[in-house]
Amino acid sequence: EAKTAGKGRSAGFTTALRTAAHRRLDVEEDLRAALQEEELRVHYQPIVDLRDGSVAGAEALVRWQHPLRGLLPPVEFIDVAEQSDLVVDLGGWVLAEACAWLARWQRDGGRVTPALRRAAVPSSARLAVSVNASVRQVTSGQLRPLVERVLEDNELQPGELHLEITETQFMSAAPAIQREMAALRDLGVGLSLDDFGTGYSSLAYLRELPFNCLKLDRSYVSGIGRDRGDEALVEAVLAIARALDLHTVAEGVETVEQADFLRDRGCGYAQGFLWFRPVPDLAPPRPRA
Ligand code: C2E
Ligand code: MG
Ligand code: MG
Ligand code: MG
Repeated sequence: EAKTAGKGRSAGFTTALRTAAHRRLDVEEDLRAALQEEELRVHYQPIVDLRDGSVAGAEALVRWQHPLRGLLPPVEFIDVAEQSDLVVDLGGWVLAEACAWLARWQRDGGRVTPALRRAAVPSSARLAVSVNASVRQVTSGQLRPLVERVLEDNELQPGELHLEITETQFMSAAPAIQREMAALRDLGVGLSLDDFGTGYSSLAYLRELPFNCLKLDRSYVSGIGRDRGDEALVEAVLAIARALDLHTVAEGVETVEQADFLRDRGCGYAQGFLWFRPVPDLAPPRPRA
């Protein structure tokens, strides 16, 4: 009796797994089509210099303008892309799109729509765009030539492009990954360790891989003002970054208190709903002459 029930449960479980696998393949197929059909969009969230509140750049964040389901955030599809080679094409598209956008934004003097606060940055400032990349892109062999091409096509300096790679994607810093990242860094492109604090052997990666920037995960930032433990961790991470001469960007800043805490402890940059949400474009189209 108990045995039969167990068997039934396990058959049901297997069916559920198979269904999940099919669903993943469906999403993958739809997503590949969406890339072809130009249903993907890039939104931009400004990154603010904490010293003076000016805009230093923006992070490119992909969305899917789904014909039936509306505008989908990455949580709905990015895992599926990252589990296959699709992320190489998808991420490459975002990279090219973001660099073309940055070139336009720089020509516009980095203006933001009046609907957003902080109307402008000093026109002399060079803005940067941060693009999320996955380890699969790094190991594909396609990322570096693409980076070189899009920088040239858009007449951008390498330092105006930052690639963000999420900490949890490094199972290990395999020699092939180390070599490729060093080569990217040699081009002059910025490399950021994204979601810092959510992985395991965080500190090892900082020594083995040529990152020049740490992005402090939102889960710690949101504890500022509420949780002494989170505050202590934020302070410790900022101290490590200072010791290793790394830039720091805090993610998900939503309150003035969080911004003040971070600035007082030497965090250089931040992004969050306190200043800007991700938006489809930052500068209004120029009126035609
Ligand atoms: P991420 O790279 O850590 O990006 C920051 C996320 O935090 C974004 O979510 C952003 O909208 C959100 N955020 C920023 N400020 C705040 C805030 O003050 N409060 C709250 N609650 N959230 C805030 P989003 O756009 O949903 O992106 C989620 C993740 O999807 C990204 O996390 C990144 O890991 C991934 N992703 C986005 N675009 C791409 C892409 O082109 N390629 C790859 N491989 N991954 C991407
Ligand atoms: Mg990111
Ligand atoms: Mg992040
Ligand atoms: Mg994050």
